Amino acid sequence: DGGKRPDYLAGLNPEQTEAVETLEGPVLVLAGAGTGKTRVLTTRIAHILNTGRAFPSQILAVTFTNKAAREMKERIALLVGGAVEGMPWLGTFHSIGVKLLRRHGELVGLRSDFTILDTDDVIRLIKQIIQAEGLDDKRWPAKQFAGMIDTWKNKGLGPADIPEGDARAFANGRGRDLYFAYQARLTTLNACDFGDLLMHPIAIFRKNPDLLKEYHGRFRYILVDEYQDTNTAQYMWLRLLAQRSKGEPQNVCCVGDDDQSIYGWRGAEVDNILRFEKDFPGAKVIKLERNYRSTEHILGAAAHLIAHNEGRLGKTLFTDRSDPDDVKVQVHASWDSEEEARAIGEEIEQLQRGKHLLNDMAILVRASFQMREFEDRFVTLGLNYRVIGGPRFYERLEIRDAMAYFRLVAQASDDLAFERIVNTPKRGLGDTTVRALHDYARARDIPMLAAAADIIETDELKPKARKALFDVIQSFRRWQELLENTPHTELAEQILEESGYTDMWKNDKSAEAPGRLENLKELIRSMESFESMRGFLEHVSLVMDAETNENLDAVSIMTLHSAKGLEFDTVFLPGWEEGLFPHQRSLDESGRAGLEEERRLAYVGITRAKHRCHIWFVSNRRIHGLWQSTLPSRFLDELPETHVEVAEMEQSYGGYGRGGYGQSRFDKAEPFANSYSTPGWKRAQANKTDATRDNWGTRSGHAVERIGYGESGPKGRTIEGE
Ligand code: ATP
Ligand code: MG
Repeated sequence: DGGKRPDYLAGLNPEQTEAVETLEGPVLVLAGAGTGKTRVLTTRIAHILNTGRAFPSQILAVTFTNKAAREMKERIALLVGGAVEGMPWLGTFHSIGVKLLRRHGELVGLRSDFTILDTDDVIRLIKQIIQAEGLDDKRWPAKQFAGMIDTWKNKGLGPADIPEGDARAFANGRGRDLYFAYQARLTTLNACDFGDLLMHPIAIFRKNPDLLKEYHGRFRYILVDEYQDTNTAQYMWLRLLAQRSKGEPQNVCCVGDDDQSIYGWRGAEVDNILRFEKDFPGAKVIKLERNYRSTEHILGAAAHLIAHNEGRLGKTLFTDRSDPDDVKVQVHASWDSEEEARAIGEEIEQLQRGKHLLNDMAILVRASFQMREFEDRFVTLGLNYRVIGGPRFYERLEIRDAMAYFRLVAQASDDLAFERIVNTPKRGLGDTTVRALHDYARARDIPMLAAAADIIETDELKPKARKALFDVIQSFRRWQELLENTPHTELAEQILEESGYTDMWKNDKSAEAPGRLENLKELIRSMESFESMRGFLEHVSLVMDAETNENLDAVSIMTLHSAKGLEFDTVFLPGWEEGLFPHQRSLDESGRAGLEEERRLAYVGITRAKHRCHIWFVSNRRIHGLWQSTLPSRFLDELPETHVEVAEMEQSYGGYGRGGYGQSRFDKAEPFANSYSTPGWKRAQANKTDATRDNWGTRSGHAVERIGYGESGPKGRTIEGE
């Protein structure tokens, strides 16, 4: 260009500069964590705008989350000096899909005010269709079919495209008809589901080449972050928009890291990276190798770990961030998860005394149920925290439902609790009954539960509702009587069993159900440290009250999945135990794919850290009130000794004669084995473990029976994305 180079280019290394300045033609940036991929995209946009190559509205930029989109917008504004008015086409695949559909929905039969159905709506609708087809919806659950449709849509398959075998899989070969019927019904309702936000635009562009051409003209530059986690439908969508006829500019830039592909379970296809070079011939592939985020120890640990995966494209990574004061990655052991939360709390307070901000610290968990222990502990300590990418533990649907039962048992006048659970699970006590109860209670100024007891003596309700209500009242009377003399955890379990609430989730075929059951178990577990049901309820109301002000200095708690793309000074990674991480489900799966995805998740976790990375494992987890001894995660063994140290092992080193139990160097870290007498069960457990040890030594993954997460076979998703 000749002129003075703008400031925003000054700090870039040569490869980054090339990625920013190669504005013409397809570009693929394939690079490891923390190498500045996102920064390259941001700077590229700033450069395009600054050099007047396009208006903000002519740039299509895709991020993985809405949060990432907001942040990117802010950074661009900083780089170009705040002059950007909006970037209408910067967002997630879904948000951009909505926008396209609001404009052109009529081409697939939707009016611009169409509604987007959530999962519950979708399931209700499918159920109606299944019934209307004369099928038994118990035999052919709507939820299962909703899952199939979701999978098809992730693969970009409409009703006409589904493979024969797939079509036969549901309702004796009627899957395809049902799928057609479902889509037709959505159109009638002027509605679409999440998958349609991609599927409809694809269909629109395919059927209307002129319109597609118009968008080719509009989108002069296309950019995609976290490219490794695009699914097939997203790729088809992208290719339609980015692939141009010969001679037309084809300015598409995707950045990604195959080692960070962690959404395979949701249909992401890491092979899209390979497809890119095929579909966009002449693409310039740029590798970034310098990591700007992490210390040498953190990077070394992460690189060594991920090297255990086979299916990799292969990359080198180095960092200049090394300082004699840098600490190694620390591996800590705790007796159990309560101990773990306490220890991490202490570590955080110590950092805080050293003037570190809570904002710079994060706890990244494998499964969302792990959060509860930290939330409880931080409330006790008065440490601010925020949960990112999902509700806080006590705000989850199933926890609120269960809590409503407990509240009503402890406090019969809790009308909100009553309304919440009177028909959960479904007992035929619908809106009409609830309204009648409401009016009755209001007129007499009594609580609804009391009103219910009165009203069944009258003939205000239909006999069926009266009978159902009678049962509810009987149950609550029984539980109230038990409140004083039954151990409260026992009572809680009894309530959830007898009310049918646990069964409701056991019979639920949705992907979330296993996670919800896990959370319910964790809820019962969390009650153990309290004297009584009332004490527990009081504690929870305090936790719920804890501030979640955005501006507050607070520790972040989130799943590993939602930590993608983020960075923190200090990262805590708890729960590195076999069966939890790698998760049992990945071990149950045949083949290496599941395990390799878990390992990538571990890589994502470690590489979020700039300066300090603390990994934790516990030697006992309590499941169903029973202690289960656990094995340290195999990922710990895969960390290099040069970059990792086992923290505070001197006082806790135990090693109580477990024969050949020395294969993992972290077995030594069995904490507090001296300070606790080894109970009989534990010794038995250790022996049992020895017996399976050979097996485990080969890492075949079958011997990991002790945690029990997978025993009941939850195949769903405890984990959350976005
Ligand atoms: P991930 O794979 O985790 O998404 P990434 O490759 O997108 O990582 P960025 O988040 O863009 O990496 O960058 C990591 C960190 O390094 C950021 O704090 C960024 O500001 C910084 N960084 C990137 N490039 C440079 C550079 N040339 N000079 C200084 N800092 C840089
Ligand atoms: Mg990034």
